[in-house]
Amino acid sequence: MSENKTKYIFVTGGVVSSLGKGLAASSIGCLLESRGARVQMMKLDPYINVDPGTMSPFQHGECYVTDDGAETDLDLGHYERFTNAVLTKANNWTSGRIYLSVIEKERRGDYLGKTIQVIPHITDEIKKAVRVVAEKDSPDVLIVEIGGTVGDIESLPFMEAIRQLGNEEGRGNALYVHVTLVPYIAAAGELKTKPTQHSVRELREIGISADILLCRSEKPLSKDLRRKIALFCNVQENAVIAALDVKTIYEVPLAFHEQGLDDLIVKELQLEEKFPIADLNDWRELVSTIKQPSEGEVKIAIVGKYVELEDSYKSLREALTHAGVANNLRVNVNWIESESLLDDENYQTRLQDFDAILVPGGFGKRGILGMIRAIEFARKSKTPYFGICLGMQTACIEFARNVLNLRDADSTEFNPDTPFPIIFKLRDLVNVEELGGTMRLGAWQCRLKEGSLAREIYHNSPEISERHRHRYEFNPEFRTALENEGLIFSGVSPDGKFIEMIELPRAVHPFFIGCQFHPEYKSKPLDAHPLFVSFVQAAQENRLKSENLKDDVTSDKKIEIPERSMSVGDE
Ligand code: GLN
Repeated sequence: MSENKTKYIFVTGGVVSSLGKGLAASSIGCLLESRGARVQMMKLDPYINVDPGTMSPFQHGECYVTDDGAETDLDLGHYERFTNAVLTKANNWTSGRIYLSVIEKERRGDYLGKTIQVIPHITDEIKKAVRVVAEKDSPDVLIVEIGGTVGDIESLPFMEAIRQLGNEEGRGNALYVHVTLVPYIAAAGELKTKPTQHSVRELREIGISADILLCRSEKPLSKDLRRKIALFCNVQENAVIAALDVKTIYEVPLAFHEQGLDDLIVKELQLEEKFPIADLNDWRELVSTIKQPSEGEVKIAIVGKYVELEDSYKSLREALTHAGVANNLRVNVNWIESESLLDDENYQTRLQDFDAILVPGGFGKRGILGMIRAIEFARKSKTPYFGICLGMQTACIEFARNVLNLRDADSTEFNPDTPFPIIFKLRDLVNVEELGGTMRLGAWQCRLKEGSLAREIYHNSPEISERHRHRYEFNPEFRTALENEGLIFSGVSPDGKFIEMIELPRAVHPFFIGCQFHPEYKSKPLDAHPLFVSFVQAAQENRLKSENLKDDVTSDKKIEIPERSMSVGDE
């Protein structure tokens, strides 16, 4: 029955890059779900890299990881945060992967010696990738975002493929949404529509007529301007939607809804009867809490590398916002380049300013000493600490160096010849066959120790599943030595091989947790991740405590924990 058929929305971008196409696509997904539709999302990236995981975070922002271990574009993070879609490798294709797959087939002789061409072989492969997702999950709507900008040479095969798909599906079953720019020219004091006109024309030249225009603009679009855009771009007037800058990205769906975007989409896709009304109450409440939290603000320091490029920690930033909402707080995030703590004599005073400290994931040696400094400070001053992946590894190194006095303790990533390899490549010793590549990627089960803070945070769940992306692991040979000094190994893989979580006993520190996985990938605005929620709560408790002890704050923070008193003997 045609009623159960998946409908398609193709999202393209024009004029310039960085218009927030990914957010626009995610917001459409969010709106359709708010009407009860089941949504699936995918991204087609024109670049040639086969694997986005190998791309520099400086150039490309965060590498987002799915449950099945795909290293994907950061837009997939938005998709999972804004919708309930569960994404896999099948939801992100690059030109490189498409070509690789066609070339592999050609090598196998699948094409029986035919001439392999962009049309039809590459375009067929792209269409197949899209249809596989539609068939696997049978969503009501599949939203397909095309990376890059219309007019890019490398995106042409994708454009041709979605043109063909729309044609095959027929009217009422597929929709083209074009995200474009309406710049404000200060000298003329006017918004200009010409770039949008050109971009829509360029799209038309490749056979695609935009149905809906999402116009990024600094200023509101007047009625006249909408009319003009509609006329020149051959769309309905109500299909010219303004995408103004908003305070928080979570406001985008609401702004689109107010202009009738979801009404228009369900009408065009003939889904009006099936999904008649949007319920956005939770979402409205979320946005109002983000804008005006009732409990004030906590200041958190993120001590890491790449801090100059916030995009490389996109999911982390969002997870902290979600946790803020859950606590009715604003999380004021301060990025500290870890190296800068090294030549700063007053680094303690600098760190004392924060209610909590977080060391995020990262690769390579640079900045490690600065992180260790920050961790030592957090441990001794009882400032809440949360270490993620590299942040757990450096916390173990700090503990080994400063509590066990193993001065040269290190990770073999930073010093291959260390006499105390606290962190190393476990897989060089244990033959973990299913690992395939060199990284431990995607979802892994983890058992939580009874009575631990971690277990309490996860609502007493004995076993959890979290996503990984790293090469190195805690070296189990050192487990007993660190345990004897009080470190708690609160999360371990079910086979006992991998240490996944560590913590300090609550008797000696209010919140000191490290995890080998990346919880930020699974945090959602309406379902904040428990580890982040508890961390932000600990920051708030620390803030309130310091406020109460204002006169005494320096001495309070400087209390040194007698290292030997840390044993807990709880095992
Ligand atoms: N560099 C470390 C490793 O490969 C940590 C990686 C990370 O933080 N994602 O194990």
